[in-house]
Amino acid sequence: MTRPVVIIGGGLAGAEAAWQLARRGVGVELYEMRPQRATEAHATADLAELVCSNSLRSASLTNAAGLLKEEMRRLDSLIIRTAEACRVPAGSALAVDRDRFAAAVTAEVESLPGVKIIRAELEAVPADGVTIVASGPLTSPALSRSLESMLGARQLYYYDAISPIVTAESIDRSIAFSASRYDRGGDDYINLPFTREEYEAFIDALLAAEKVPAHDFEDLRYFEGCLPIEEMARRGRETLAFGPMRPTGLTDPRSGKRPFAVVQLRQENRERTLYNMVGFQTKMTYPEQKRVFALVPGLAHAEFVRFGSLHRNTFIDAPRQLRPTLQWRARQHIFFAGQITGVEGYIESAASGLLAGINAARLVRRERAVAPPATTALGSLLAYITDPERKDFQPMNVNFGILPPLSPAPPKKIKKELMVERALADIEIWLAAIGEQRGPSPALKVQSH
Ligand SMILES: Cc1cc2nc3c(=O)[nH]c(=O)nc-3n(C[C@H](O)[C@H](O)[C@H](O)COP(=O)(O)OP(=O)(O)OC[C@H]3O[C@@H](n4cnc5c(N)ncnc54)[C@H](O)[C@@H]3O)c2cc1C
Repeated sequence: MTRPVVIIGGGLAGAEAAWQLARRGVGVELYEMRPQRATEAHATADLAELVCSNSLRSASLTNAAGLLKEEMRRLDSLIIRTAEACRVPAGSALAVDRDRFAAAVTAEVESLPGVKIIRAELEAVPADGVTIVASGPLTSPALSRSLESMLGARQLYYYDAISPIVTAESIDRSIAFSASRYDRGGDDYINLPFTREEYEAFIDALLAAEKVPAHDFEDLRYFEGCLPIEEMARRGRETLAFGPMRPTGLTDPRSGKRPFAVVQLRQENRERTLYNMVGFQTKMTYPEQKRVFALVPGLAHAEFVRFGSLHRNTFIDAPRQLRPTLQWRARQHIFFAGQITGVEGYIESAASGLLAGINAARLVRRERAVAPPATTALGSLLAYITDPERKDFQPMNVNFGILPPLSPAPPKKIKKELMVERALADIEIWLAAIGEQRGPSPALKVQSH
């Protein structure tokens, strides 16, 4: 008899991990604190409750979120199967009837042999035994405190401050120029220069843009050192030009002069396929970000792989704390899964729970923990969040920009199709190599309509 694996949190990641463990015959004790203890966003006692949108994003294979779903489908994901059974029409997106979805996941997990759901808060990671920490962005204060002392100072964050990211190939290089301030550091940054007129038009659009209202529990006083750009503009029209958009130490090679203001783009990955807008955290809605940022010289046709945001979000410094297998670097029998690892989004959270479940089962069976190749959507996301070279870590969603580029570079219009082909071929090879079976799986009790 082996000891059951302890899972802390019955959200998207925890429920998926429990399913993967049970399928492999491993016992589970799943601790979920609701309804005894509420979070600021959940409204029910169900597992896998969707706290905001009812969309699990694109179902199309030429979208990275769609590719991740297909990989999860091949790994027999409970979340994907249930979502498909509870689907509501939403164009090319996979949207669900949220109540039916959460109730169905709860019923499935409750009926799994060897899974015991304990409705209680766990205030610390157990001293021994295999554990998966999947307590989410709203991890209870007591557990957060004990994680802080377990991980070490400044290794757990309570808010994210995310700057938008664009693909390198969508930046207009006839306008942008590469340079570091005062030529220190070579040409590390891509600079997007503004004239005064362009700057004024940008500030007008920024001030008028629609913003996402903060949740009641999001106390923005925490962000004095990291203000959203629209708040800076509200405090004074020139604040940005003296802050993140200051042009000091930069000369536009086209004019030979210092621009009135600049947006700096910093390299986001080693392959230089992605760049983030330095200091551009914002609470503008996504469509407004697309519209307003198109006014930045050089970004008129930019492709955004991540939009900016500021959220209440508990997450760890994964590049320093986690292996790509989702094991804690310091103790391999402790796994992290879900939003707390620094992945961003429902599907990403569930996908990390899926791998943590597979690996916890492997550890119990004394097999080596594994991670999918970086050419897959899941593998690339894990490689991204656990890259020890990454500084100033902020959460990341799945997107094609984090997948390794194809070589030789194909024409742009078939690039995504070829990346999908490579990812699906590689996940099959990986599955065969690690000896994980695709099925057969127990039939879902929820009937699709
Ligand atoms: C307000 C808000 C809105 C969001 N909206 C979206 C969105 O629209 N789309 C999107 O893709 N992503 C969204 N996210 C991000 C993220 O995808 C979701 O939070 C997702 O639910 C994360 O999955 P998870 O399993 O990591 O955490 P959760 O689904 O939150 O699950 C964690 C579980 O752990 C439990 N728990 C916490 N502490 C303890 C403890 N000490 N002991 C026992 N149980 C505990 C909680 O009650 C919870 O049930 C949102 C996040 C927040 C905070």
